[in-house]
Amino acid sequence: MASSTVEDYIKHIYLVAEESGNEEVPMGRVAEALGVVPGTATTMVKALSDAGLVNYAPRVGVCLTSPGRKLALHVLRRHRLIEQFLVEVLDFDWSEVHEEAEQLEHVVSDLLLERIDQYLGHPTEDPHGDPIPSAEGEVLVDHFDTLINCPLDTEVAVARISDQDADFLQYISKAGLNPGASLRVVNRVLSAESVEVEIGEAGTRLTLGMGAAGKVLVR
Ligand SMILES: [Zn+2]
Repeated sequence: MASSTVEDYIKHIYLVAEESGNEEVPMGRVAEALGVVPGTATTMVKALSDAGLVNYAPRVGVCLTSPGRKLALHVLRRHRLIEQFLVEVLDFDWSEVHEEAEQLEHVVSDLLLERIDQYLGHPTEDPHGDPIPSAEGEVLVDHFDTLINCPLDTEVAVARISDQDADFLQYISKAGLNPGASLRVVNRVLSAESVEVEIGEAGTRLTLGMGAAGKVLVR
């Protein structure tokens, strides 16, 4: 089994590539995602390259090889199934499970993971709405609108929240914007960088800044 550091690097390279829509990830972004100085990231990435998990080109960046991608999806499967288990079975709030999963994703055995998967009925999404890769390493990649570019005055449902910060997720959760919640964008004021939404049947009004609105993905 790969060390937790190796798994963290591979996972973050995958997530940055997915977010930017570009397979090649600049080393600055790798260091930033892992919270390390660039020199540390480069040393580690060279070791990952020797292990055949990434292709590294100095001054260009790093991209996952096919074994690297497979490992990334396996780590994400562990992470997201654990989050789903904590919410569904242990009554955690969905805004607080990320940090727990960050630890557990490196230690859960394949046997335990498959039992969790079975127990949960093979879920395809985690509590944040992120897709759970299959045991074979396949993953659904959907493209969603955000509250910034979805149609006005049209009912949409929260698909996923593209931020794992616990404070932000708690704010979103308290506001009632949980994955699955329905809402309408009633007003966008570009000059004030704000988006006004009406949530649920009660039509609770909430005004979000553009930064937050861009992190709420809808379908
Ligand atoms: Zn998470």
